Amino acid sequence: MTANTKTPVHIVGGGLAGCEATWQLVSRGIPVFLHEMRPIKMTKAHKTDAFAELVCSNSLRGAALTNAVGLLKAEMRSLNGLIMQAADACAVPAGGALAVDRDQFSAFITQRIRQHPLVTVVNEEVLTIPAERPCIIATGPLTSTALAKDLEQFVGSQNLAFFDAISPIILGESLNLDKIFRQSRYDKGTSDDYLNVPLDREQYYQFIELVKHGEKFGGHDEVESDKTDNLRPFEGCMPIEEMVARGDETLRFGPMKPTGLTDPRSEKRPYAVMQLRQDNREGTLWSMVGFQTKLRHPEQLRIFKTLPGLEDAEFVRLGSLHRNTFIDSPKCLHPTLETRKAPGLFFAGQITGVEGYVESSATGLLAGINNGRKIAGQECLVPDARTALGGLVHYISDETRKGFQPMNISFGLIAGYGEVPGSKRRGGKDAWRLEVSARALALTQAMFGGTGAAQQAVLAQAVLAQAVPIQDPANISGQTASNDLADSANAPS
Ligand SMILES: Cc1cc2nc3c(=O)[nH]c(=O)nc-3n(C[C@H](O)[C@H](O)[C@H](O)COP(=O)(O)OP(=O)(O)OC[C@H]3O[C@@H](n4cnc5c(N)ncnc54)[C@H](O)[C@@H]3O)c2cc1C
Repeated sequence: MTANTKTPVHIVGGGLAGCEATWQLVSRGIPVFLHEMRPIKMTKAHKTDAFAELVCSNSLRGAALTNAVGLLKAEMRSLNGLIMQAADACAVPAGGALAVDRDQFSAFITQRIRQHPLVTVVNEEVLTIPAERPCIIATGPLTSTALAKDLEQFVGSQNLAFFDAISPIILGESLNLDKIFRQSRYDKGTSDDYLNVPLDREQYYQFIELVKHGEKFGGHDEVESDKTDNLRPFEGCMPIEEMVARGDETLRFGPMKPTGLTDPRSEKRPYAVMQLRQDNREGTLWSMVGFQTKLRHPEQLRIFKTLPGLEDAEFVRLGSLHRNTFIDSPKCLHPTLETRKAPGLFFAGQITGVEGYVESSATGLLAGINNGRKIAGQECLVPDARTALGGLVHYISDETRKGFQPMNISFGLIAGYGEVPGSKRRGGKDAWRLEVSARALALTQAMFGGTGAAQQAVLAQAVLAQAVPIQDPANISGQTASNDLADSANAPS
């Protein structure tokens, strides 16, 4: 510990990310000023003055290590995460998911934070980015308007969004390439940058009927429909169902236009085409081009799986359009979560463009650890991209990314997962995912210098519970995470 260990960190926002960052810092003996505006000023979704309130579902999603969000949670447990301590202590039966009693969950966190001698809670709406450093902005998707205006000045108006317009993303390995062809429109680019799902006349109109009658809205509807704020996406994106409402042909002259494409099997231009664009450097994720939608999530699964080649598609993200303040992180943040522009100023939580309770908490954890390291005179850590936390922060800080939209964790983001469209892994998908998880947990332990008994126990428990051999990180072969990405042949389109 150095002499300046007592430098306080200012954290704005006592949500999931802000509380996790606070916990990581005070656990390292670093004082925190935690600025939270509730209940003086409420958001449109929060109902209480408690910290880390879950504004919608009470589920932290899949628990198993065959699920990327299960892995992310296991990594957070191994790093003494407060959100996971609370979730495990307040769990309710939920099958394969980790769900919590929301009141107990927030109370658990509020008590730990408020009672900690190193935490000073400042109950105020922060109107501008604090001048003090270090500072973490963790004000979430419903950041107050005044602060959002100041953030806009800081990052540039083109780099702050007020809602997201999301197209679904599919895991490449789950696509049936026998029915899909690779080609760029008019053979531009490297000529096979896109995957094209061809539809004949009958298939197209069947699809249009399904979209027309599909149930709309999903996820966070109630707040999504809030029109009082200045809603603006990064780029003009109309949901597909609104396009269909304008006429049966609109999609065929819009995102589903077949011009410049020839199906090599028929050597003809298809009647309509749904295009998939590569979404990560490894080519494991593919996004449906121009398919932002407010169809309900089960409806998206039902309808999109009728498209040729998507019958068994595994969706890592479904389409949505909702209120969400977030910065264009690829332009603004290092993978340490520190801003490129202002050393000592960090962002964490949903405002960085991660999506979900667990992902938001995980970035809070990293921002807390890195602020602690900075204060101790150490380099900030860039987590290995072969871990879930690393995959997530590399995704949101990838400078080459254009048209950034929020993202959940998925195996497709984890470097070295390595599945490509149409490929089938020997031993089955779950066995491979458990191997990837075991490697990620071992790397997490090695990366953050954790050899403590608690971490060992968590790792052993998580891995043994799923019958996966624990790997010694020293024996893990392959390149470093950043090299994995840099050397990838597949540049994002
Ligand atoms: C309506 C809605 C529903 C959602 N439902 C789900 C869901 O079911 N499952 C899921 O996984 N994810 C969901 N999300 C996405 C996301 O996971 C949550 O919003 C999550 O709470 C984000 O964590 P956070 O810490 O980034 O922000 P928050 O938890 O929102 O915390 C931000 C905190 O900052 C405070 N704040 C804001 N502005 C200021 C200011 N100027 N000064 C001081 N304090 C300020 C807020 O009061 C809040 O306490 C939902 C999002 C929304 C908007």
